[in-house]
Amino acid sequence: MCLAHHLFVWKEWGWEKKDEVYPKGVESYVYVLRGTYMRGLVAGYDLERLSIATLASHSSLQIFHGAKMEGFRTVAIVVKDRLWFYEQFKHLIDYFIVLNSWGELCRKDVVEKLRSLNAILVPHGSYVEYVGLDCAENIEVPIFGLRKLFRVEADQKAKMELLQRAGIPTPKIYRIDDDIDRLVIVKLPGAKGGKGYFLAKSKDEVVERLKKYIKEGLIKSFDDVIIQEYVIGVTAYYHYFYSPILNRVEILGADIRYETNVDGLRRLPPKISINLDLEPEPSFVVVGNIPLVLRESLLPRILEYGIKFVEETKRSLPPGIIGPFCLESVINDNMEIKVFEFSGRIVAGTNIYINGSPYSYLYWNEPMSTSRRIAREIKLAIDRNELEKVLT
Ligand code: AMP
Repeated sequence: MCLAHHLFVWKEWGWEKKDEVYPKGVESYVYVLRGTYMRGLVAGYDLERLSIATLASHSSLQIFHGAKMEGFRTVAIVVKDRLWFYEQFKHLIDYFIVLNSWGELCRKDVVEKLRSLNAILVPHGSYVEYVGLDCAENIEVPIFGLRKLFRVEADQKAKMELLQRAGIPTPKIYRIDDDIDRLVIVKLPGAKGGKGYFLAKSKDEVVERLKKYIKEGLIKSFDDVIIQEYVIGVTAYYHYFYSPILNRVEILGADIRYETNVDGLRRLPPKISINLDLEPEPSFVVVGNIPLVLRESLLPRILEYGIKFVEETKRSLPPGIIGPFCLESVINDNMEIKVFEFSGRIVAGTNIYINGSPYSYLYWNEPMSTSRRIAREIKLAIDRNELEKVLT
């Protein structure tokens, strides 16, 4: 392979490192080029006056707060109708970039503004959903995190495959032609907070409902959804942070999602809910998060899965995940953990721990939220002259 080919592959998709393809010595060459690109993006940046920018939504208040704690300036990218709300927190925000719609993020003048503010963009769980995959992955502003993961995250099947390649236990996955022999959950694409998901017990039920969704234009084809075994147990979501600078995986917290109406239904005695004319179906729309502290005996396995996840992203999406990520699981009564989903960015469940969590305290002995941890990592990277290790 020649240099031009590397550049082409990289420009289109980010580096696809395939050990078997690279001749000896090329791997380091690849990373030199990646570093060159990063230096290109941050060239002209005043490292003394970096700012941390994010879309005003999801976990942005935490991100601004964490950035301030570490001495960075902050930039809120906000849509007009939310401006009044974020202005209530202007003590945390140095600069507002006001858009008519999220789609304007990649407009030339907006990107130039961000660059003139020496901005590092912190993507959160709503980033791709709001600005679209193309803008999200191609924006010419340095991103704290792994850009290449956005495309994987947008594809539910690719996501589950990544978990399986990592050696992390997942629920059984069904194809539409498979016989469905147990309760399954059918998930629609995109981060819509569980909207439109449904439970079914047979193939016929799944097919019937999906045909309706296609008619309504909710999905284009059966292939758009993922069908998973519905694991009976309790849900638990683990917040991790991978530090390329300290080369370690930290568990920063855990939470449970509060979901309507699956959590609301259990407030009704079964003999009442069974006789309700409406027969409310369980749905999974997230309305908030509840803190969780885990049995200590579960922690080694939880950390092991976090490490496996990091290693797999290093193998298949080099340089691998950077910073926060979350594994989302159900734990059954045999203490088996089945991971049904992951998020490669900061999750909203971390908002519980703006003042730090019982776990982050163990590593840092000071109030350390996930977003403060992001800002700390950037600071450590600058001190060690290794900023390219945390930006893509
Ligand atoms: P997700 O969008 O994949 O995070 O799923 C939304 C919600 O559906 C989760 O928070 C769980 O309550 C539930 N859920 C998802 N997958 C499963 C599964 N395989 N087994 C049991 N519950 C699930």
